[in-house]
Amino acid sequence: MSIFHDEIEIEDFEYDAEEEIYHYPCPCGDRFEISKEELLKGEEVATCPTCSLIVKVIYDKEAFEKEQDEVQQLTSKLKVQVIK
Ligand SMILES: [Zn+2]
Repeated sequence: MSIFHDEIEIEDFEYDAEEEIYHYPCPCGDRFEISKEELLKGEEVATCPTCSLIVKVIYDKEAFEKEQDEVQQLTSKLKVQVIK
């Protein structure tokens, strides 16, 4: 059984759209990371590559998948606006 350092809601993570990775500051100075792909697979453990801490990501998988579609639609709309 894993011992989580903390449980953090996905809303509190920063999203790196370029790398498609969610990250959250780790007490060691590095950051916990979990990719969008892992979340879509049902993975809910974000790890810090520097220390051994792990956090549990709190999210609703179905809502997350839906949100991803919306984000993509929004992103394409934004791109159109930028081009204009
Ligand atoms: Zn760390």
